[in-house]
Amino acid sequence: MSLSLKASDYRRIVEHARAGLPNEACGLIAGRLAGDAKQVEKIYLLENPDACPEHFSIPPKAQLEAIRDMRSLGLAPLGNFHSHPSTPAHPSDEDINLAYDASASYCILSLAGKEPVLKCFRIERASRATVEEIIEIV
Ligand SMILES: [Zn+2]
Repeated sequence: MSLSLKASDYRRIVEHARAGLPNEACGLIAGRLAGDAKQVEKIYLLENPDACPEHFSIPPKAQLEAIRDMRSLGLAPLGNFHSHPSTPAHPSDEDINLAYDASASYCILSLAGKEPVLKCFRIERASRATVEEIIEIV
């Protein structure tokens, strides 16, 4: 399982996460699926309506608009991302509880260290299993 992300999109995610500090920032990723390989073609930077350093939610209206935009571009929803302002890039208990889509990529950008760290996971809520996906920044 792998996920490729354009360097420019990676930079936009980092900037969005930094701009959202001290709160968590979030967004959606869309693109193409080839077998187990995901190619991210477009990212959607969304506001975190929770405005909280430890929680985020995807605003439903913005999500709907993003899905509509993906459809019009022929892209598939691939998952989402959010930031961890002061904890590692690993799903929290709450992230696992809220992971309702086992095929989605849950990407987490940690700003806890000197350099940002991005990791992506598939999460099976029932078994609480997380599998890390390989990220390629292209
Ligand atoms: Zn989290």
